[in-house]
Amino acid sequence: MSQNFRNFIDGKWMDSTSGETFDNVNPANKDEILSTFPRSGPQDVDLAVQAARKALKGWSKVTPPSRGRILFEAGRIMSEKKTELARTLVKEVGKTMNEALGEVKAAVDMCYFMAGEGRRLYGETTYSELPNRLAMTKRYPVGVCGIITPWNFPLSLISWKVCPALICGNTVVLKPAEDTPETANNFVEIMSEAGLPGGVLNLVHGLGEEAGEALVRHENIDLISFTGSSEVGRKIATLCGERLTKVSLELGGKNASIVMEDCDLELAVDSIVRGAFTVAGQRCTATSRAIVHAAIYDEFIEKLVEKTKKLRVGPGDDESTDVCPMINEKQLNRVMKYVEIGKKEGAKLLLGGSRLTTGVYSKGFYFEPTIFTEVRPDMVIAREEIFGPVLVVLKVNSLEEAIKVHNSTEYGLSASIFTKDVARAMGAIDRMEAGVCYVNAPTFGSEVHLPFGGVKMSGNGHREVGKAALDVFSEWKTIYVDYSGGVQNVQFQKD
Ligand code: NAD
Repeated sequence: MSQNFRNFIDGKWMDSTSGETFDNVNPANKDEILSTFPRSGPQDVDLAVQAARKALKGWSKVTPPSRGRILFEAGRIMSEKKTELARTLVKEVGKTMNEALGEVKAAVDMCYFMAGEGRRLYGETTYSELPNRLAMTKRYPVGVCGIITPWNFPLSLISWKVCPALICGNTVVLKPAEDTPETANNFVEIMSEAGLPGGVLNLVHGLGEEAGEALVRHENIDLISFTGSSEVGRKIATLCGERLTKVSLELGGKNASIVMEDCDLELAVDSIVRGAFTVAGQRCTATSRAIVHAAIYDEFIEKLVEKTKKLRVGPGDDESTDVCPMINEKQLNRVMKYVEIGKKEGAKLLLGGSRLTTGVYSKGFYFEPTIFTEVRPDMVIAREEIFGPVLVVLKVNSLEEAIKVHNSTEYGLSASIFTKDVARAMGAIDRMEAGVCYVNAPTFGSEVHLPFGGVKMSGNGHREVGKAALDVFSEWKTIYVDYSGGVQNVQFQKD
């Protein structure tokens, strides 16, 4: 029997006002309905926003170190429940247990990191240009934050947004992805168990165009923080623009690894295979392009094919699985569409390219690890985000050409270069258009104490991880304290 979950509004669990629900389906077995969730609409969103607004007064007055104590406790509970949380991720995202445990760790790390920020939240103090006058800055909450998250990293991404929002004194309405709602439920339960007061974090389940859009359109929201596709991000930014609502967007990517002829080839191939195919390529930082120097191209391809062929596609709960199922039929169809486009464009389908449908695969959304060669930078498969286990390989003759090819997409999330030459690596870092750059490592592997985010179509200029997240979730106030006893002002001075 599948379980019925509910929204969490003002500290109370409740159904959607319409009573309608949607199903949470197992990506490894589409016939298995894991649980049902409220299909919320504008009325539910409104209740949650009202609750968050009401709670803001009290929560913003709780001191940041006291807010931090709740986040420490949440991190501790999460860590204690890591296996249980990981099992839910395996079940509803489809990823492997190791991938799921890694994700739980990233969520715990953020709880602890932001809890520590509660004792810092540093501003600046400095001298005024005028005598007997103090100048300083202090962070204040933005207000009620609408947080919208995707399904591929449902626990860590919720933690990466909600923790900085809370430590800065904001209240939150969370609309998680409809494909992975149970993980969001678990996160909210833990926050509540850790002592977060009712109304501070509200959870509204539902579909993007319904609950998600209602949240973005709500006039009493002060900030929208969204992670998801660039297509939806653009729509959200337009709606926020109409009301001048602060909006932070973390969007898609078309990440590349550059492989130079002087690199450790085993390391490069191993990293690219992991970057392209683990989590079935459904990372925003997945390696979807390999840009390879002609001098080692043939050897690279040989090793790449050899390693990729060894990958085992299977369900996340099978310990021998390397490549898990895709999240749903829609995503699988999207990948199949791009494979067809690639073939029509004249790229060579070197490996894979098909849905797996027999035996253990018959009920899930499985796709073979796929490699295209003879790809030109102007091809659609070299420019658009596929978001599946598909790697395109581009051949280049120099670092100069590699960087030009690297920068030829509209995205700019993460990038990596494999070389033993430090000058080349540093030169590439300076010129690769990406928010996160790695040397001799895959295109994924962000740590919670450093900023994360992209340039170009991968975002809108914000960074949500590390201390940088505080700039999204707080407003600066600049303060001048004059103790001269007289009226003095820099604007009264002549020079
Ligand atoms: P998506 O854009 O379809 O959905 C993301 C979230 O937005 C979901 O909760 C969805 O319900 C909601 N949504 C959909 N339409 C909406 C609308 N009109 N108004 C308001 N909300 C709406 O993305 P997805 O398929 O869940 O996730 C995959 C995408 O996310 C990929 O493009 C991937 O690169 C990106 N992503 C980016 C990062 C990052 O940090 N840059 C991290 C993970 C995923």
